[in-house]
Amino acid sequence: MTQTTATGAFQLPPLPWKDDALAPHISAETISFHYGKHHKAYLDNLNNLVKDKPYATMTLEQVVLGSAKNPAEGGIFNNAAQVWNHTFYWHSMKPNGGGAPTGKIAEKINADFGSYENFKTQFAEAAKTQFGSGWAWLVLDGGKLAIVKTANAATPLTDGKKPLLTCDVWEHAYYVDYRNRRPDYVTTFLEKLVNWDFANANLG
Ligand code: MN
Repeated sequence: MTQTTATGAFQLPPLPWKDDALAPHISAETISFHYGKHHKAYLDNLNNLVKDKPYATMTLEQVVLGSAKNPAEGGIFNNAAQVWNHTFYWHSMKPNGGGAPTGKIAEKINADFGSYENFKTQFAEAAKTQFGSGWAWLVLDGGKLAIVKTANAATPLTDGKKPLLTCDVWEHAYYVDYRNRRPDYVTTFLEKLVNWDFANANLG
């Protein structure tokens, strides 16, 4: 994940694949704007907001957790969390991903949701019903898998939950390719894009 450099500026991590690698499910146009404009804007805002502050020398996770406790630092939190959430989202997808999980996460999904189908239904429901902008997440909460949704920049990190996967449901994530059809984007995310290797690695 993003770390500070010796100059105290956070960096935009490279995408884990080429910007057309998720097409036709998510177009290069969406990725180029989502990563090159939206993600970068959060990063630039963050660097401006933390300049000459102790946060400039901390890890991104420390900035997210620290600023979440202080209502006066809402701007820092929103931008830091959005930088973290987006990097996590890129890694939550891969070309030829999606479908039923494999490995340890498959066993854990069966144990905690009963079946992959149940998981899929519950994750899709969370992603579709998040009102307005936000995120749907698969997390580890006290040793059990759970699905949560968060609004705007909010992240399960601040609730002591360990994120395993996320789906960005802000309109900028899908409007170019799906217009208003968020449910179709969510279905495609689950069936064609989910990076179960990443979830397995996060599960540890
Ligand atoms: Mn986004």
